[in-house]
Amino acid sequence: MSKYSKLHKLKDKMEKDDSLPLKKGANKLVFGSGNTETKILLIGEGPGRTEDLQGLPFVGQAGKLLDKLLELASLERKKVFITNIVHHRPPENRDPLPNEIKDYGKYLDKIIEIINPKVIITLGRFSMAKFLPNVFISDVHGKVFDVGGFKIIPMYHPAASLRNGKILTAEKQDFVNLKNMVQLT
Ligand code: URA
Repeated sequence: MSKYSKLHKLKDKMEKDDSLPLKKGANKLVFGSGNTETKILLIGEGPGRTEDLQGLPFVGQAGKLLDKLLELASLERKKVFITNIVHHRPPENRDPLPNEIKDYGKYLDKIIEIINPKVIITLGRFSMAKFLPNVFISDVHGKVFDVGGFKIIPMYHPAASLRNGKILTAEKQDFVNLKNMVQLT
């Protein structure tokens, strides 16, 4: 079975899973989207309002910035796959809770297993903590770490860059550097 078919099957299963803790308050499942044959997986935090309505990751303001950041690394959405730590919108966009991260994590692990990327770019501290639990994002952003057979590259969350000009400057530089740091294609 192709990666595309496997992911489609997993998405169907997830859509039917009423035990997922954030399902009740959400409109749509935001499973993830992009190129299923990619070597590069991006993992954000969780859907916001626009994503919840459309069922797609990073399609709101933070997503628009992410598109520009990807361009700085000579990347584009159709070359990567994008998903999140939790796949339903947390109420009021609050941070995901540890039990939610764990419950959605079972599916995220399957997504990672199916895509089998070489590079995982984490966006924000929640997805970073999945691979690098004891670090501060301010210390490690933009660097490459070998974890579990993947190149993990922690980046600031684009929403943080929208709120803080200094973070935006740092994040832009990190994406410019990304192009030269790892073989992305
Ligand atoms: N922020 C995220 O972390 N993920 C999305 O899909 C959208 C905004």
